[in-house]
Amino acid sequence: MSELRVRFAPSPTGYLHIGGARTALFNYLLAKKEAGRFILRIEDTDVARSTQESVDAILDAMEWLGLSCDEGPLYQSDRFELYKQKVQQLLDEGKAYRCYCTAEELDAKREKAREEGRKPKYDGTCRNRTDQPDEPYVVRFKLPEDRNEITFVDKIKGSISFQTEELDDLIIQRSDGTPTYNFVVVIDDAEMGINLVIRGDDHINNTPRQILLYEALGYNVPDFAHVPMILGADKKRLSKRHGATSVMAYQKMGYLPEALVNYLVRLGWSFGDEEIFSMADLIEKFSLDRVGRSAGVFNPEKLLWLNGHYIKTGSPEKLAELLKPFLEEKGISINNGPDLVAVVKSLQERSATLIEMANGAVFYFVDVVEYDEKAKAKFLKPDKKDLFEIILNKLGHCEVFSEKQLEAAFAEIMQVTELKFGKVAQPLRVALTGGVPSPGIYEVLQVLGREVSMKRIEQALDSLEG
Ligand code: GLU
Repeated sequence: MSELRVRFAPSPTGYLHIGGARTALFNYLLAKKEAGRFILRIEDTDVARSTQESVDAILDAMEWLGLSCDEGPLYQSDRFELYKQKVQQLLDEGKAYRCYCTAEELDAKREKAREEGRKPKYDGTCRNRTDQPDEPYVVRFKLPEDRNEITFVDKIKGSISFQTEELDDLIIQRSDGTPTYNFVVVIDDAEMGINLVIRGDDHINNTPRQILLYEALGYNVPDFAHVPMILGADKKRLSKRHGATSVMAYQKMGYLPEALVNYLVRLGWSFGDEEIFSMADLIEKFSLDRVGRSAGVFNPEKLLWLNGHYIKTGSPEKLAELLKPFLEEKGISINNGPDLVAVVKSLQERSATLIEMANGAVFYFVDVVEYDEKAKAKFLKPDKKDLFEIILNKLGHCEVFSEKQLEAAFAEIMQVTELKFGKVAQPLRVALTGGVPSPGIYEVLQVLGREVSMKRIEQALDSLEG
């Protein structure tokens, strides 16, 4: 068998959305698994709607997800000359024709068909025209008369048949001379040696037209695999109404690419009841025969759960790097504060996103602790003066804030004050953190360090007296 060649072919008319990312991922995984080639092709023939900004956004998102291509990005806008030649080839062979019908004429015909209960379809007025008036024209592909039915075996959906009478004489070149999607996609897939087309099933109706074009142009027809759509909870096609649909919006919301990759692949593919897959696992296990035939429903809670998993199990050093921009955004300077890796370690268990982690990290970096009103009213009352003095004294005797020394100090505090652990830890936590949800008290003491902790306890003591 020849080398597998697959491609992802986004149109740069917006950001990379969740559905596109999953299509790209499926292509990528299969290429890696089969030691094939993954090609990235930017479909920018619609010059009016394509922007460099969208190209950049798509490339950034793919890089963030780790979906590097083996060839590309190739741009259709570099290939107009080739498309022109192919239009000419079909014209010369009598497989395409110039159509001079005006938009008004076509509208009227469509209207009439509708009135008469017929499917609106081009009636072939210009099919056999031989004159070439000096007027604007489009080029149409002549639907072959000898084909009644087109059947292909989709690698996800199984056998699919279309009646050619449902099809039209497709426009392959617009009146401004630019080629259309169905035409260029065939030329590119063929010329780039693509032998398996994996794409969204919103393109399934295009496939019979494309098959006819492959045949007319003398190309081999590739295999097809149409991936079911992604729906929102209301079973409607996923859109902004359901929340963020842009891949990079998830980065901004503090998601990890591993989580999004894991989530997207499971949305439409399964492997027993396993839920957690690294990219390496996926490259080993992914196959199209385990892709489901029906649409997947986007579940933000599950994505959040997976993200929490990858934060819990992630490398603290790597997470610290990823956390930096989120802290910067909050105006926190990490240069005068505790070790960021230690901060991350203390928060991994309790953060589902990097935003949550950044929020949870703020108290470590403030110069002066700001107390939560309720916590202050409850725990920083004048009657806590003795307790804080004892804490200050006993912790002051710890040479280092090791687990062992802290435990010993706490045992003594509890003994002297005859208070239970929680009754000591709660006011202390307010003194150290201001009263926000935070990691265990020993951890907070250790990450803040002896000097800062003592300073914060003194500050709390002052606030009692004040
Ligand atoms: N450019 C098309 C799109 O973004 C994809 C075409 C294809 O995969 O065949 O929908």
